[in-house]
Amino acid sequence: MKHDFDILQLGHPLLRQRAEPVYDILAPAFQAQAKALLSFVIEKGGMGIAAPQVGISQQFFILSSHPNSRYPYAPDVPPFFVINPERIAHSDTSNKDWEGCLSLPGIRALVPRFDDITVRYQTLEGDTVEKMYDGFLARVFQHEHDHLNGHVFLDRVESNYDVMMEKEWQKQIAQSAK
Ligand SMILES: [Zn+2]
Repeated sequence: MKHDFDILQLGHPLLRQRAEPVYDILAPAFQAQAKALLSFVIEKGGMGIAAPQVGISQQFFILSSHPNSRYPYAPDVPPFFVINPERIAHSDTSNKDWEGCLSLPGIRALVPRFDDITVRYQTLEGDTVEKMYDGFLARVFQHEHDHLNGHVFLDRVESNYDVMMEKEWQKQIAQSAK
């Protein structure tokens, strides 16, 4: 079982491919791989990661949320699994905010996302749940869900003028949010 994961970088074909559904969530091999990925995410301190980003072409991702400089009111939600997600509804309205991605290091962009979404997915215990997300979690959910369908945040950007390099973003945007 793989415990050390490499993050695939944009250009790798697995990041551009639709991932396969997870057919047997309770299978020991799947459970072990999922838990290894969870330890990896906790170690990295990221807000989320989608399985294709570490070369696992399956429909699942890990999400979490904690307050940060861009989203001081983001809820504190420990990492949880989203498996075989489907979006069943979304708001008519959307908003643009900054995103980054471990698979596209050094780049930030203003990305439009629906304000809120209603989704159905399975948990690591194999239960099906239906939830509504708004704010930061809605944004991160849409970002990670895109990875399962071979999309990255740059695909959603409306204009090249909404793209910044990390270094400049840190100077201009992250500072001003504090
Ligand atoms: Zn990403």
